[in-house]
Amino acid sequence: MSEKVLCETCLCPREYRVEESQTLSNFRVDGTSVQYKELRAFCLTCNHEVFVHEVNKENTTRIKKELRKVKNLVPFELVQETPIKYHIGKRPLSLLLGWGELTYSRFIDGALPTRCYSDLIDIIYHNPKIYQNILEKNKNLISDVAYRKSKKAVQELLAHKSNR
Ligand SMILES: [Zn+2]
Repeated sequence: MSEKVLCETCLCPREYRVEESQTLSNFRVDGTSVQYKELRAFCLTCNHEVFVHEVNKENTTRIKKELRKVKNLVPFELVQETPIKYHIGKRPLSLLLGWGELTYSRFIDGALPTRCYSDLIDIIYHNPKIYQNILEKNKNLISDVAYRKSKKAVQELLAHKSNR
C-alpha cells in the first residue's frame, strides 16, 4: 500500500498496514450492542495505530450491517431495489410514503431506517398491491409523469404475478 496518512506519533506522513482484529469488538448504540470484526491501521514505521478514513468507513459499514441484523431491519439490498422495482425516483418515492423528500435518499446512502420506516419499505417491496394503493392514494404528492411511469411498472408486476 503506497498511500500515506499522518502518523500522530511520528508526526509525519507514513505508510500503514491494515489488520482485522481476531476477536470481535463490541459497539453499543441506542441501547443495542453489536459485535463485529474491526479493522485497524498501524504505522509501518513506529507501529502505533493511525487513523485512516477508509478503514473507519469500512468499520462503520460493518457495524451498520450487524445493527440491521440485530434489529431485524430491512436488508440494504431491498432498500436499493424498491425504487428500481417500481420505476420511481428516490425523491418521489419518499414523498409518496409521506416522508421528507430526502429521507429515502438517506437510507440509500446507508442511514439506518427506524422501525416504522424499515417495515414500510419491507412491506411495499413484497406487496405490489399495497404499493399500488399508496401510489393511488398519494399521487397528488408527486408529478404526473412520475405517477404514470410507476403506475405502469406496478401494473405490469401485478399482471405478471396473476399470469403465473
Ligand atoms: Zn508512526
